[in-house]
Amino acid sequence: CGVFGVFNNSLASHMTFLGLHALQHRGQESAGIAVSDGYDINLRTGEGLVTKALKEKDLQELKGDIAIGHVRYSTAGGSNPKNIQPFFAHFYGGSFAIAHNGNLVNAEQIREDLEKNGAIFRSTSDTEVFIHLIAKAKEPPPSHIMLHENDRDFLPLIFSAMNKVKGAYSLLILREKQLIAVRDPYGFRPLVLGKNRSGSYFIASETCALDIVDAEYLRDIKPGEVFVIDDSGMRSYFPLDHADNPRKCIFEFVYFARPDSMIFQDWVYEIRKEMGRTLAREFKVDADYVVPVLDSGLLAAKGYSEESGIPLEIGLIRNHYVGRSFIQPKQEIRDLSVKLKLNPVRQVVEGKRLVVIDDSLVRGTTSKKIVNMLRKAGAKEIHFLLSSPPVISPCYYGIDTPTKEELIAANMSIEQIRDYIGVDSLYYLSLEGMIGAANKFRQKGFCTACFTGNYPVF
Ligand code: 5GP
Ligand code: SF4
Ligand code: MG
Repeated sequence: CGVFGVFNNSLASHMTFLGLHALQHRGQESAGIAVSDGYDINLRTGEGLVTKALKEKDLQELKGDIAIGHVRYSTAGGSNPKNIQPFFAHFYGGSFAIAHNGNLVNAEQIREDLEKNGAIFRSTSDTEVFIHLIAKAKEPPPSHIMLHENDRDFLPLIFSAMNKVKGAYSLLILREKQLIAVRDPYGFRPLVLGKNRSGSYFIASETCALDIVDAEYLRDIKPGEVFVIDDSGMRSYFPLDHADNPRKCIFEFVYFARPDSMIFQDWVYEIRKEMGRTLAREFKVDADYVVPVLDSGLLAAKGYSEESGIPLEIGLIRNHYVGRSFIQPKQEIRDLSVKLKLNPVRQVVEGKRLVVIDDSLVRGTTSKKIVNMLRKAGAKEIHFLLSSPPVISPCYYGIDTPTKEELIAANMSIEQIRDYIGVDSLYYLSLEGMIGAANKFRQKGFCTACFTGNYPVF
């Protein structure tokens, strides 16, 4: 999912619409915006792409200077209109709206406990437990924290909720007069803060969403941080005694984030390309062309081509009028959408030995079809390379990887996969190679659980 927030902008809902549009790759199932005019919070949501879910009329009706928005793809909870975010809630202390990127690993358990005590849930989403935990919290704030007077009522409730939940959360919370950002202590999902020249502040999953509203990147919201902005200024708190031990999602660099974004303080573009360069050092092959599986394989292919000296050719054309195929939750639809999305260029591939590069192999269904199409178009040899290691374990932290049964690398050897997708050779970037490519810049401290099975929290 993607989140976007605005503080101090008279066109807050329009700005949020733009921000969500830039984050569309992070979720295409639904979109929503909540706005506060200082007294009341109003909400509009819809299914599908941002431009379908929200209309100009919605934006005009959403008056106010503070807003949050969300684009969703289903992880926990499944695709269900009831799960469209932001969520809105009234409680004894007022009202708030909440938008969540990530996934809680103990949501089921908390939910069961709450339901036994009479709580009623209206969605199947893990995010809703936050609302209940916030509304029910009773503990005083940790004694080492000095709260600003504006924060004394509400923030202890968030701190208390953070103490109970486990997992990944980059959260935006909208109050009548405040915008609050919260990032889990491991910092699984990115979250950045920016500002424009007229003094509006923005918080977004990725910097490409700051670019679209002409805002400058200021800094990351840090792992474990609770950041508050209101008319009295900006404050940040670290309520959990968190070790400095981040577990940032390396898959954001491999695939999920946009290459024109800076996340976790590094450029996705550079790291993704470095993964391709590393791939070229690890696996050398005689070939005529390097062909990217667009869009996600482009930068790894560029890196591979530069490092190996094999020219890059666009041997597959991407139809841009379809979204990311994996985001369609039904297998039958996913099967079709591969053909809708990519088509080989016969003039490029006929009679040629190709190094085809994609970012990751998940189910193997896309790759098998791509290989089939390339063969039909006359490719002589196909060497299929991935700029990440085999995905062997599901993600429980907010990326929609399928169950273990559907993960091809969890069920087949590399040789069996090679045979299944029908290529001359198959090579995955090594774990060390992937981490090394990311560490070459500023990075330290990754989650790699989908490649290793080592889960930082469960
Ligand atoms: P496959 O050949 O495994 O069916 O599909 C691989 C393609 O799915 C790659 O191009 C990759 O970009 C894309 N992909 C990346 N991340 C995910 C994910 O989390 N889930 C799924 N299902 N596909 C993904
Ligand atoms: Fe990212 Fe994989 Fe960890 Fe999920 S399991 S947070 S996709 S690295
Ligand atoms: Mg892809």
